[in-house]
Amino acid sequence: MDDTFVPLTPLSLLYHSPFTPKKTRNMIDNKAIFNISYGLFVLVARQGEKDNACIINVAQQVTSEPLQIAICVNKANLTHDMVLKTLKFNLCPLSEEATMKPFQHFGFQSGREVNKFAECEQEFRTDNGLLYLPKYINSVISCVVTKSIDLGTHTMFIARVMEAKVLTDSPSITYAYYQQHIKPKPMAAAQPSSGGKKKWVCEVCGYVYEGDELPADFICPWCKHPASDFKLLE
Ligand code: FE
Repeated sequence: MDDTFVPLTPLSLLYHSPFTPKKTRNMIDNKAIFNISYGLFVLVARQGEKDNACIINVAQQVTSEPLQIAICVNKANLTHDMVLKTLKFNLCPLSEEATMKPFQHFGFQSGREVNKFAECEQEFRTDNGLLYLPKYINSVISCVVTKSIDLGTHTMFIARVMEAKVLTDSPSITYAYYQQHIKPKPMAAAQPSSGGKKKWVCEVCGYVYEGDELPADFICPWCKHPASDFKLLE
């Protein structure tokens, strides 16, 4: 018997189906969702003369003939709008050579406020004219979007691979690797406070604030999350 997996309902039918599943929130254990593994990628776009990039964690090869990948991008990112408009992107898997720097630089600030490539060497471009990083990544994959699916907070882009090259042998990182080896460890960062000052750690990025009191309107300088995302280190 052929045991090839055949989905019961083609995805295209599901997407257009008027059927809306009932909410089963009480049956969903988020820990099970966290057990899905993810990679981490720099997604680069270019619109006019503007280069920009963000960090994404959903990218997957979906077919080999033709060679297609799928990515999901949060609509809040400027890079999302640029990809939607230009239908082109470079996907760069982050490697074990990555430090916290590319996450802070591309993930914790918006291209609407800063030029993320202001200090980047401009010669690292693929044939489509888009940039890629000279370090922290192990490959660059240039794609043309063939389909986009509105998923509410995110858009899924299906894209054809037009060019792909390996840059280093350094393995790609997973989200779990980032958590274990790259993201600053709050307790390691929390050396004994000097002069009786207290310390608060940002639970999103690991930034440590030291002072008498954490201001209620404090914004994390690394990830821009508010004071409510900080925890007092005891
Ligand atoms: Fe933070």
